[in-house]
Amino acid sequence: MLGFGSKPRICIVGAGFAGLNAAQQLKSSKYDVTVIDREPSIEWLPNLHEIISGRKDGEELKLSRRRIMARLGHRFRQNTVVDVSGTSLLLDSGDMIAFDACVIATGGLDDFSGVPGASQFAHSTKHVADCQHIAKVMRRATLGHRTLKVSVVGAGAEGVEVLGEALRAYRHRPQFEFQMIDANKHILPQCAGNLDNVVRRHVDKLSVDFRMGNGVASVEKEGLYLQNGKAIESDLTIWAGGVLPTPLLNASSNASEPLRQWGRVSATFQSHRFESVFIVGDAAEMPPIMANEAFHAIDMGRFVAMNVERLLSGKRLKRFDPTTKPQVVSFGDLDTFMVFNGFSVSSSMLGAAKEMVYTLGLLQLSPPTNAKDFVNTLDVFQRSMRRVYLPTLNPVSMVGKLTRARLFT
Ligand SMILES: Cc1cc2nc3c(=O)[nH]c(=O)nc-3n(C[C@H](O)[C@H](O)[C@H](O)COP(=O)(O)OP(=O)(O)OC[C@H]3O[C@@H](n4cnc5c(N)ncnc54)[C@H](O)[C@@H]3O)c2cc1C
Repeated sequence: MLGFGSKPRICIVGAGFAGLNAAQQLKSSKYDVTVIDREPSIEWLPNLHEIISGRKDGEELKLSRRRIMARLGHRFRQNTVVDVSGTSLLLDSGDMIAFDACVIATGGLDDFSGVPGASQFAHSTKHVADCQHIAKVMRRATLGHRTLKVSVVGAGAEGVEVLGEALRAYRHRPQFEFQMIDANKHILPQCAGNLDNVVRRHVDKLSVDFRMGNGVASVEKEGLYLQNGKAIESDLTIWAGGVLPTPLLNASSNASEPLRQWGRVSATFQSHRFESVFIVGDAAEMPPIMANEAFHAIDMGRFVAMNVERLLSGKRLKRFDPTTKPQVVSFGDLDTFMVFNGFSVSSSMLGAAKEMVYTLGLLQLSPPTNAKDFVNTLDVFQRSMRRVYLPTLNPVSMVGKLTRARLFT
């Protein structure tokens, strides 16, 4: 069993938006913090789809977790946590780590909904490498004359952002045909303001088909079958179908079937099973149910750090009160939607706002500590300026774009 020093020991499992923000709040002078993630880098999920159009190459969306932890004075271990009790956790290496408090922030896994062939033949967009692969296949198709049929499965925010980026780069190329497929009848069904119509209008004259109201029954190398039995040709199937709980949340359960439950927590983020174990971010299921959004995960991560400190010093824990923030959904360079509770607004200018959030977020997670870092940071800004702000804000395109801000209720 590994245990370190005399300071209270805190383990954080999962170093995504929630886990990293929790780690940032905890001072290494007061706590012995170990952060564990199976991957070496955090990948900036809200911007991954931009790799598909080539607007980002992917490497600028990754930050080394080891470096972030070194700057904070915390320990990083690249491992998968396979089990957790009220006092320790078990790594895939066989090591056990003892803790006084633990934060689980393991996010979610691709939800292929048990569709046969989906995990094998469809491409996910949840990692830089997945999006780089999709980008490569599409770039290669521009070199020949053969048609590439691209299917996006899932017409929620992720699917719309993916389709938008593909259209940004390839909508005027004759080699491409696009289709969007979803069991739901509407595009962006969770968003107020009937954005379905708006999205459809943008692609009216483009080679885009919507096959809505029928789920995918199976995926094969050359295409897919819908639940109504219809076969659809597809050379590149992209899966944008949401997320499932990670197995850790249901480890140690005695159920014969693998459970698919999110981590149930109280309003303090303490798990129902152990008071020393907190669950936050996408992994947490607490009333009220919140959308899986990075800003919620960040808020939860910051909040849980305070409750962990309160638990360790014997103080009463505080209850989390989620703030409501609008969700931003981009549709390539065709539009960007800001979705509020009850209405949505649309303007291509919002794309620049989303980019600003990304650059500031990266800076906040990894502020420059030396001259080389500073130059790299300027580089990130410079690339954002060149690829996003300037095209959006240049006076010529602005004339057309400013008039397009609209309200949908
Ligand atoms: C493609 C995509 C686009 C998105 N776009 C947006 C957007 O535009 N705006 C927005 O607000 N939100 C967006 N989201 C949602 C947002 O990214 C998530 O809500 C957010 O990442 C959740 O943060 P988290 O810390 O809970 O989990 P994650 O960021 O998923 O981090 C979980 C971490 O846990 C690690 N992990 C899991 N299991 C284990 C284990 N057993 N042992 C060790 N490590 C483990 C994983 O490797 C991962 O690093 C998007 C998500 C995706 C997938």
